[in-house]
Amino acid sequence: MFKKILVANRGEIALRIQRACQELGIKAVMVYSEADREAKYVKLAEEAVCIGPAPSALSYLNMPAIISAAEVTDAEAIHPGYGFLSENADFAERVEKSGFQFIGPTPESIRIMGDKVSAKQAMIKAGVPCVPGSEGELPDDPVQIRRIARTVGYPVIIKASGGGGGRGMRVVHTEAALINAVAMTKAEAQSAFGNPSVYMEKFLQNPRHIEIQILADKHKNAVYLGERDCSMQRRHQKIIEEAPAPGVPRKLIERVGERCVAACKKIGYRGAGTFEFLYEDGEFYFIEMNTRVQVEHPVTEMTTGIDIVRTQIMVAAGERLPFTQRQIQMRGHAIECRVNAEDPYKFVPSPGRITMWHAPGGPGVRVDSHIYTNYFVPPNYDSMVGKIIAHGDTREQALARMRTALGETVVEGINTNIPLHRELMVDAKFMSGGTNIHYLEEWLGHRTR
Ligand code: ADP
Repeated sequence: MFKKILVANRGEIALRIQRACQELGIKAVMVYSEADREAKYVKLAEEAVCIGPAPSALSYLNMPAIISAAEVTDAEAIHPGYGFLSENADFAERVEKSGFQFIGPTPESIRIMGDKVSAKQAMIKAGVPCVPGSEGELPDDPVQIRRIARTVGYPVIIKASGGGGGRGMRVVHTEAALINAVAMTKAEAQSAFGNPSVYMEKFLQNPRHIEIQILADKHKNAVYLGERDCSMQRRHQKIIEEAPAPGVPRKLIERVGERCVAACKKIGYRGAGTFEFLYEDGEFYFIEMNTRVQVEHPVTEMTTGIDIVRTQIMVAAGERLPFTQRQIQMRGHAIECRVNAEDPYKFVPSPGRITMWHAPGGPGVRVDSHIYTNYFVPPNYDSMVGKIIAHGDTREQALARMRTALGETVVEGINTNIPLHRELMVDAKFMSGGTNIHYLEEWLGHRTR
């Protein structure tokens, strides 16, 4: 097992990884930007290294700074968390070339799965059903683009091959809007992801977003840890996640889970990963794979009792998965609410000093957050400041515990979206389960304040 790991991330996930290291008796080296000097995990760290100024490009995306931090501290491995460099194949490669273990899949796997077009092609080969669309990248010729769209059938969605975080996507309803939409998405993709390649998919009307968590080791063992329903989204960004997905037959989940495992074995995947699907009329359609730990991993940890971050570290060190598929049992139901520092009505970011923070507690309640009273939320990064997770024997109990938890939570000094979560936890449609990916936006459209 490793003696020392460098955590190349910030915020709640940095703290989550630090906790896993502590439990395993591994020293964690924390890196931070000048804006994160006061972060909880930096204060708790035995060793911490400043890697640059506040802008991510100069710190959390600064590969040489991160690798030299690992060198000077004698770390053996680097955990990339999520976001930032976690799905950057070049980074994974540089980490390994510098003699460190990258806690994640091989650079080749990241390269294949990180590009949505090649990921879809790999999945089709592995027998995983995909959303119908263009065969690979869209050509430049408008005539051909129109022909593809007619075959796929309107509405279509133009998506950046290198996209992520809900950006680089555009829905097109009519042929008149098509060519311009492709050009705009290409330009956006170039500036946001440095890759102008786009592809086309049928825009599914009322799907749910359901994803499968997998874990694989370096010895060709792979398992799936059931599914998560992440349909409650705003601007393609997840706000609430839960496991299991309400009302989806177990048999279907098992079938798609087994396909995902087979795909992992086929590409020699190792570490944690998530296969994302859209689910409509009883069918699963693959959209993309995330080759890293996800924000919403706690709901799976709560329902399976498996520590995903700990397992990531163990398999990176070369250990075998400590469980077989048959040993994985799902228990109860878990729901996660992402707490964002933003106005709960207008969604403008709300960074600043937190003057008061009371975390909730009680049976089945978990809080993953790095914030504390008097912490300053820097304006430079993602607005998510933590997650509240509630587990219960049933979905009703998990919801009741979440309502209690949200009622106990106090955050003062900044705005958060907790009032939004409180409203949603008593919304009749959400309470009955199985809302689709458009539900939250429609609900927001009718919301009265
Ligand atoms: P990202 O990598 O940016 O998260 P995804 O490909 O995972 O992008 O898509 C994010 C979300 O966008 C999905 O959860 C879904 O809500 C919506 N979406 C993506 N593709 C489609 C599609 N073909 N039809 C309908 N909605 C889609």
